[in-house]
Amino acid sequence: MEAKLSPADRETYSWQLDVPGFGEAGQARLRGATALVSRVGGLGGPLAMSLAAAGIGRLVLAHGGPLREDDLNRQTLMAREWIGRPRAECAAETLRRFNPRVEVVPVAENVGEGNAARLVGEADIAFGCAPLFEERLLLNRECVRAGKPLVDCAMYAMEGRVLTVLPRRTPCLACLYPEVPPHWRRRFPVIGAVSAAVAQIGALEGIKLLAGLGGVAAGALLQFDAAAMTLDKIALAPRREGCAVCGDR
Ligand SMILES: [Zn+2]
Repeated sequence: MEAKLSPADRETYSWQLDVPGFGEAGQARLRGATALVSRVGGLGGPLAMSLAAAGIGRLVLAHGGPLREDDLNRQTLMAREWIGRPRAECAAETLRRFNPRVEVVPVAENVGEGNAARLVGEADIAFGCAPLFEERLLLNRECVRAGKPLVDCAMYAMEGRVLTVLPRRTPCLACLYPEVPPHWRRRFPVIGAVSAAVAQIGALEGIKLLAGLGGVAAGALLQFDAAAMTLDKIALAPRREGCAVCGDR
């Protein structure tokens, strides 16, 4: 769905309207789009900020729990004075201040069985930025079921991975991880600059997809290594035939 651009939109986004292949049509598509961002921490926060800067129409931010002191090395939409406040609300406040023309909807709970269908249902695209595989796989399942594109972002220490899923066309997250990998821990090492870098790769995938820019790495896994400073695009095998989520059964 395209939205009409106002004179103010043309002014705000004038530097990106000149990007080859983007233009007013791409901007209008972005302006008409709703994105669901699952968690707005070290990954989802910087990602949502870039979507807001690019002029997406509507952002739905799902994140449970209050802000803690030890979130502040990476959750850049937050502020120290907000410790104890719900993180979804804090993120929404920062994004609205940055770009008041983006409609921001905070949801003070994580994506789960009880809300996934509704949240994915109202979005044109979903960004999975949760630290837990259970949450990422649930969002993947719901996106495939609803036929909505998903950009799944993950990181650990100096490495990050981004997978763009076009439901039933390219491998989904469950094709790669049929089950939650053993030994995955809730708490893992993070430098904020690494999670922010991975977030930007994910944000770009989404912006390209929504604006119709092309060059989306669907069917491949983007692997960022901050230690070696490399970004690899690893071609994936076709969708796994027996995939419980996207397999043809
Ligand atoms: Zn699959």
